[in-house]
This record gives sequence, C-alpha cells and structure tokens, in this order.
Amino acid sequence: MASDLPVNFIQNIINQDLEADKNDGKVHTRFPPEPNGYLHIGHAKSICLNFGTALANNGLCNLRFDDTNPSKEEVEYVDSIMTDVKWLGFDWDDRLFYASDYFEQLYQYAVGLIKAGKAYVCNLTADQIRDYRGTLTEPGKESPYRNRSVDENLDLFERMRAGEFEDGYCVLRAKIDMKSPNMNMRDPVLYRILRATHHRTGDKWCIYPMYDYAHPLSDALENITHSICTLEFSDHRPLYDWCIENVDYSGEAQSRPQQIEFARLNLTYTVMSKRKLRELVENGYVDGWDDPRMPTISGLRRRGYTPSSIRDFCERIGVAKRNSMVDIALLEHCIREELNANAIRVMTVLRPLKIVIENYPEGQVEWLETENNPENEAMGKRKIPFSRELYIEQEDFMENPPKKFFRLRPGGELRLKSAYIIKCEQVIKNDAGEITELICSYDPDSKSGGPTSGRKVKGTAHWVSVPHAVDVEVRLYDNLFLSENPDEEDDYKTALNPASREILQGCKAEPGIAELPQGNKYQFLRQGYFCQDSILSKPDKMVFNRIVSLRDTWAKVSKN
Ligand code: ATP
Ligand code: MG
Repeated sequence: MASDLPVNFIQNIINQDLEADKNDGKVHTRFPPEPNGYLHIGHAKSICLNFGTALANNGLCNLRFDDTNPSKEEVEYVDSIMTDVKWLGFDWDDRLFYASDYFEQLYQYAVGLIKAGKAYVCNLTADQIRDYRGTLTEPGKESPYRNRSVDENLDLFERMRAGEFEDGYCVLRAKIDMKSPNMNMRDPVLYRILRATHHRTGDKWCIYPMYDYAHPLSDALENITHSICTLEFSDHRPLYDWCIENVDYSGEAQSRPQQIEFARLNLTYTVMSKRKLRELVENGYVDGWDDPRMPTISGLRRRGYTPSSIRDFCERIGVAKRNSMVDIALLEHCIREELNANAIRVMTVLRPLKIVIENYPEGQVEWLETENNPENEAMGKRKIPFSRELYIEQEDFMENPPKKFFRLRPGGELRLKSAYIIKCEQVIKNDAGEITELICSYDPDSKSGGPTSGRKVKGTAHWVSVPHAVDVEVRLYDNLFLSENPDEEDDYKTALNPASREILQGCKAEPGIAELPQGNKYQFLRQGYFCQDSILSKPDKMVFNRIVSLRDTWAKVSKN
C-alpha cells in the first residue's frame, strides 16, 4: 500500500484504486506532449507528476507524442522534448510511442463505430457545424446527414481515406446527442480531411483523427490506468469515456483508463502557451527557444537551473484542482537554496574601478586563502592573488556618499574579502571629470589573523587583482515581462520588459575561474549565482549568465 506517500488528490484516487484492486493493482501513466514547440516549466510539472506518480507507485510512465495535427509539428520539437524529459531525470525506457503509430488501428475503430451506427459522415461545412451545434442555453440541431445508412457511411469514410474529397469536404462525426448539455457531446468530429505531410507517416494519410478521439484510445492501447491532464479537459471527460465505452478495442487491450484533471501551472511575469512562446521566438523578441529568459526547459537549463531545482519546485507547488498563479520568486528560491549549499564562491567584479595601493610593494604577489563555500566546509579553500593594483566594483566607492554608505569614500576604509583593510587616499579623474582610479593605502597588519584584522570596518567588498584578472562577459537577466500576468493584456507582447537582459563586457574574474569545469555553477560574491553560457562561452572568451540574484524575496515572504 502506498499510503505513506505525500498525499495529493491524485495519489488519493490511486490509493483507493489500489485498495479496490482496480487495474490489477497497476499504475501506468503517460506524458503526452504535442510536438509543436519546446517544453516549458508547466510541462515540467506534468512530467514530474506523471513520471513521479508512476515511480511512487511501482508503476510505469510512457512518453507519447500526440502527433495528430501534422500541420504544426516538427521533428526538431520531438528531439527537444526527449532531451528535456531525460534532462529532468526521467526515463521512459522502451516505452516511447506516437499517436501516429495507431492511425491504422484508430481508422479501424472508426469503421467499427460506423458499423455500430455510432458514427456518420457529415457534409456540413465547418461554419454550419458550428451553427447546428447550438449554444450552452440552446440545444443543437441534428445534421441532415445524421441518418445516412451504415453502408453509405462506410463507403464515404473509405473514400475520405482514399483521397477522393478535398480538404474540408466532409468529416466523420460521432453520433451521440445534439441536445446534450455538454457541447462536446453534440456529435463531435472524429476525423477530418487534411492534406499535410506528417513528420512520421509522410503523405500516407489525408485524414487525421481529432485529439478527443485519438487520445483516449491511445491511452487504452497502451494500457494506461490514470490519464492525468489539465483542467481544461474536464468538459471533455464524458467524450473520453464515450470513446472508451463505445469503441471495441478488446482485441488489443483490456484496460479501462480514467481521465483525471489537475490545475495547470501559471507563473507570474511569464507566458506559458506554446503558441505565444513560438511567436516570441519566430519574431525575434528572444534569441530562440533556449534563450535564458524563456520559461522553456531548454531556456532554464541554459540559464543554469538544475534538474533537481526544477523537480523541487514542482514538488513544492503541489497538485491542485483549481487554477492559480505561482510566484516566480518560488522558482528562484528553489535554485538559490540549492546553489547556496553547493556552488563554489568566486570573486568577479562586474563594473570595475581600478585602485592602486601606493604602499604595497610593486611586483609583489601574495596568494591568500579563502573558503570555497562558507556553508559547506568540505568544499575546501583556494588561493587568490593579491597585488598592488586591484579592481573593485564602481558602486563600492562614492565620492559624496549619503550617511549610511558603508563602503569606500575619500579618506574612508573598506575591508577586502579574505585580504586587507584599505583606505582611500586620492581620487583620480579624467578631463571629463569621471573617476578613473583610486589611490589607496593598505594596513599590512589587517590580514586575516593579523594584529589589526579585528579592527572595526563596516563594509567588506570583493576584488580582483589587475594583472591576474580574467576578462569575462556577464549577462544579467530580469523578468521577460513587466506585467505580473501578461495574458491579461490585450496584446501580451506590449508587456515585454525592454530591460530583460543587460550585457556587461569587460568584467574581471579571479584567475582560477578559467580552470573550473564548464558546467560548474558559481556564486559570484555579492552578485548572485552564475554559470557559463553553454553556447556562447568559449575558453578564450567566457560568457556567464546570471541564474538568479542573491536577494530572496520568496524566503522573506514565506518567513513572515
Ligand atoms: P500549451 O497550452 O502551452 O500549448 P499544451 O497543453 O497544448 O500546452 P501539450 O504538448 O498538449 O501542450 O501538453 C502536454 C502535457 O503537458 C499535457 O498533459 C498538458 O496538460 C500538460 N501541460 C501543458 N501545459 C501545462 C501547464 N502549464 N501546467 C501543467 N501541465 C501542463
Ligand atoms: Mg495540447
């Protein structure tokens, strides 16, 4: 019995099913993406739920491409989806399926429905079908083609398949109930004529099954027990059940799959529909599906998110029956918490200001020890070079600072992390009056462990030695949208954040950074968590993405 598992309502249903020995005590789920775009963080929730539920119940989860709509689908998407599911840490083993694998079978089932008097070929146009369907308050009208004979229907359906009719000339419809209060049950379309080359079946077919027909039967053929989908399919459930009950698939499978709906994930400052994400890509609003600002799995990966942080996020948001909006700060909190524990600390100056320490011997270099991660002693220590010329952040100095400025000011002192206390002696400016460098002095006794190291100096700054510094590019990111819910705008694109990316050239990193493995994640002291961009970064020109800043608004909110 699986009663010690974290209980969400889906697990509750499964527990009941297991107790009743339904499905012979088996749990078999599937993740059914349509290959018409890259996966996003919402899909991650569905992946974690489907694969996770199977794992937690000793069951299996299939990957099935729902490729019933050839006009929008591409092989590129199929490949990216497989990459992303694997990267998230899930495995379908040998259970990779395509709805298109079932096209012949689905066709035969439709023939069976016709023979049973449960489906008919209808020549109403799409507009007429809509008119005849009625409204939520008015019953629909029966199609004049509804009472065609079985033989005539069989003949027409065969000719649909043979390509005798033009696209849209007729459709196959289920004969259910034009007066049903559920619009989906008013003789829904099962097949349409569509001449489009399919990425797997090529031009073999010119009729394609509709999702509402193909999906339940694909589930049945794969012996799926629990068909988990998002809430918008609730109204389709009676049709799902109708297909299961009225199609005779007993020769191929014995299962009786059950559709269960859960709330889709919505994230603040994000859009999540593939159509919109595709529009952003195709119109160049972002650099591609894997742009680090995108909520796609490939974008998050390139940004530096780890699979474990995304799985953690999906676990924390839980599974609900009502739609809601999740704060993007929670996603950031998950990666921040993980990296705080295991990312190596590095000093990188993003906007350098040069300082010269006049009383430090020219040509001298000291290798000072500093910890790799104060949260994790096991990560050890490393040595960083200190010399007469250093970079600090421009914002760590102010010529005319306000009262509570605890960093460097003319005549003031600042502690350099794992090094000495320095004092600003002189400010050097160019002809335009801009500060170009600072002349400082240092207190030789103030090194860690030295006689004056305990001296009270309020600010501590990161720094990098000028002759040792490695030039790197750093990319800072903000939300892609300015509005919390861009979908609420008339045109979501008007909510795009023009400052969602800032590219900083000539940042100065400590020399050891060049030796660390490419996939490493770092905390740049006081600047956030970073990783190398997997595409742009080269050994001679490293490019870093900021995964997330250090400020944790989620932790603050959730502590209150
Ligand atoms: P979109 O609306 O973004 O185009 P979709 O539902 O059309 O998404 P599919 O490829 O059909 O995309 O989705 C595959 C699975 O992922 C489905 O079971 C779907 O319910 C689920 N899914 C899609 N978006 C979300 C989301 N935001 N949250 C949770 N599950 C989702
Ligand atoms: Mg879909």
